[in-house]
Amino acid sequence: MIDLLDFRHELHRFPELSGEESVTATRILKYLGECSPSQIINNLGGHGVAAIFDSGEAGETVLLRCELDALPILETGQPPYRSTVDGKGHLCGHDGHMAIIMGVAQRLAKRPIARGRVVLLFQPAEETGIGAPSVLADEKFAAIRPDFAYALHNLPGMPLGHIGLKSGSLCFASEGLNMSFLGRTSHASHPEDAITPQNALVELMSTLNSLPEQLGIDPEKTLVTICHARLGLPAFGITPGDGDLFAAFRAETDALQAKLIASAAQYARDCAEKHGLKITVDYNEKFAACDNDETAVANIRDAAVGLNLPIIDIDKPFRWSEDFGAFSAAGKTALFVLGSGKNCPQLHAPDYDFPDGIINTGVDMFEQITRKHCG
Ligand SMILES: [Zn+2]
Ligand SMILES: [Zn+2]
Repeated sequence: MIDLLDFRHELHRFPELSGEESVTATRILKYLGECSPSQIINNLGGHGVAAIFDSGEAGETVLLRCELDALPILETGQPPYRSTVDGKGHLCGHDGHMAIIMGVAQRLAKRPIARGRVVLLFQPAEETGIGAPSVLADEKFAAIRPDFAYALHNLPGMPLGHIGLKSGSLCFASEGLNMSFLGRTSHASHPEDAITPQNALVELMSTLNSLPEQLGIDPEKTLVTICHARLGLPAFGITPGDGDLFAAFRAETDALQAKLIASAAQYARDCAEKHGLKITVDYNEKFAACDNDETAVANIRDAAVGLNLPIIDIDKPFRWSEDFGAFSAAGKTALFVLGSGKNCPQLHAPDYDFPDGIINTGVDMFEQITRKHCG
C-alpha cells in the first residue's frame, strides 16, 4: 500500500482544477484498488470516486468525504514536491484530505468493519460549489445514500492537531450575484441622450452593504462583499450604456441567505426600473450552510476524547463556505476542523502547504468515528 506522505506529495505535484480532476481520480483508483473495497463507483457527479466497504451485515451507512480539486493560484512555496503545473496549486489542503481518506481505506482493508457500510467519497469540484450538489444529483448516489456523513477541513491558525467542533451552523451559506445592466450609449458630449447605469451602480454599491441592517438581520450573521464593478469601456468618447456588478452574499443559515439573496435581486431590479435600464441577474457558486447534526458532532467529540486529542469548541460559525453543507439533504452530517498550526499560511495563500504531521490524526479520527457506527 502507498505511503500516505508519498501519496499526498504525488497529488500535490499534479494539481487539477474543479471539474478537471480526471488524472487525480485515476491516481486514486489505482491506490484504492490495493485496499480491496467491495465496490468502486466511478465518475460520480463528475470525476468523483466512491469506494464502498460493505460488511455484508445490516447496519448504518457512513460516508466520509474529501475533495479532489486544487486552485488556479501559482504556488510560491518551495517544498520538494512543489506543483509542476504553472498557475495551479493544492493550496486548500485537499491533497492532505485525500491522503487521510486513503489512510482510512488502508485501515478498513487491514481490519474490516463488522456491520453496515462505509463509503469513502472523493468528491470533485468543491471550490466552485458544484461538486457536492452534482454528486447528490447523480443517480448513482442513490446506492450510497448515507445515514451519517462526515468531513473535515484543515484550519490554519488553529493549533496543530487540535479538533474544532460546533453543533448547528459551522460555515456560512454563500452565493454570488452578477447583476448586468443595459441602457443606451451616446456621444460623451451628449450624455443627456444616453441611458447610463452609472447611478444604478452607485446606489446598488452603497445599498447592498447595508442590506442586512435594512432587513433587520443581525449584521454578524451575514456578509455582503462587492467583488467587481464595470461601467462601459475604458474610453473617453462614449457615455456608457452598460455595466455589471458582482456581489457575494453570505449568511449563517440557508433561510437567512434565501431572504438576503431575494432582497438583493429585488433591489437591483427596482434600481434598474427606476433608471430605465434592462437587467439580468445571474446566480453563481451557491453553497449551502454547513448545518452540523448534534448526534454526529457528539460522535466526533467521542472520537477525539477516545484519542486524547485536544478539543476546541467553536462559538461562532466561519464566514467561509464548504459545499459539504449540501449533504445535509441526504442524511445527518457534521464537518469538523483540524488545526494546521498557528504559523501555517492561510488557505488559498500562495505559500500554503498542508502539514503532513496531521495526516495520521485525521485517519485516526475518521477510523474512530467509523468504528463507533460500524465496529
Ligand atoms: Zn478552498
Ligand atoms: Zn478546501
